[in-house]
Amino acid sequence: MKDRKLLMIPGPVEFTPEVMQAMGMPTTSHLAPNFIEVFGQALERLRDVFLCPAGQPFVVAGSGSLAMDMAAANLVEVGDAALVVNTGYFSDRFGAILERYGAQVTHVRAAAVGGAPTLEEVEAALNAGRYKLMTITHVDTSTAVVADVKGLAALGRKYGTLVVVDGVCSVAGEALRQEEWGVDLVLTASQKALGTPPGLALVMAGPRALEAFRRRSTPVGCYYADWTNWLPIMEAYEARKPAYYGTPPVNLIWALNVSLGQILEEGMEPRCARHRRLSNAFKAAMGALGLKQVPLSPELAATTLTAVYYPEGVDGGALLGYIGAAGVILAGGLHPEIRTRYFRIGHMGAVSPSDILVTVGAIERGLAQAGYSFEAGVGLAAAQAALIR
Ligand code: PMP
Repeated sequence: MKDRKLLMIPGPVEFTPEVMQAMGMPTTSHLAPNFIEVFGQALERLRDVFLCPAGQPFVVAGSGSLAMDMAAANLVEVGDAALVVNTGYFSDRFGAILERYGAQVTHVRAAAVGGAPTLEEVEAALNAGRYKLMTITHVDTSTAVVADVKGLAALGRKYGTLVVVDGVCSVAGEALRQEEWGVDLVLTASQKALGTPPGLALVMAGPRALEAFRRRSTPVGCYYADWTNWLPIMEAYEARKPAYYGTPPVNLIWALNVSLGQILEEGMEPRCARHRRLSNAFKAAMGALGLKQVPLSPELAATTLTAVYYPEGVDGGALLGYIGAAGVILAGGLHPEIRTRYFRIGHMGAVSPSDILVTVGAIERGLAQAGYSFEAGVGLAAAQAALIR
């Protein structure tokens, strides 16, 4: 029997064979003409993936938190006011990073875990202060809550506030039209819906964000994240010229370019539609099994992952162990208020209908082993019905 397990956590996810092949290629020089071509092409493709034709992409070695750090370090000066639209753990992290660079941070929080502040609440906050920037966590991976980026960005425009979106768990999975929606900066990481192993921090800065950076009166407080260092490098690679500041992770960028090619071949709209369809099928299965989700309403539920409460009386740790033994790796909880009460399933990137069915099947077997009473197959039937529909 094959003993390879299916990885269905909210990042890293499963990657395509072509992407993995690029990871295993002989590493070339970061100044080799063929690598310069690949890096330049990846930068160009990112504009199409972020739907931001006028954006400036930055791709550096690091995780998603470095991308958050880069956004804050380059946009914030000591004393600037920042508004955090808070939907969970990663919104809190953004607040902490902004504070580290000297921002005065105000949080507009959801009334309860699994909720999101309303547009009215955010507008009231924007009205009450003068904020240089606001941050939005598009999908907070701790709650699986999706924010209304389009509506929030429109408010940001109305109040003259830079709009910064943490798209680590959304870019290339959830619909996000950076330029059309008026978002000034979107950041992400390689290991989720972008379909590339962990290790790349990615930022797409729109014209207003770059302008705010250029108008700084104080130096950027983080040497590694400073756009002063990285902008000439990104521009050089895109012009197919050699340049050096920090050694780029050659194989990761090669793999990223392969994945971006696959993403654009699928098309952004069909890709988001696939994520929605698979997410709906998976969520239908959880509902049929009688499991409750963390997001307080279906409209607040992300399509890149699902967060589900353990059933009453079921030991969560044991259940995840049984599901793992049944062949699928899932993630436990993350939000500090409910951490031990729920688990998370990532379904993004190259995920297929078969992956959804395998995962639901493993969850059913795990639940049965954990002593949960349900009709075997109801989750699978619900997912299958949604996939066939
Ligand atoms: N923001 C969000 C929404 C995330 O899901 C994550 C990672 N799960 C991060 C930021 C941080 O990314 P990383 O773990 O790659 O530093």
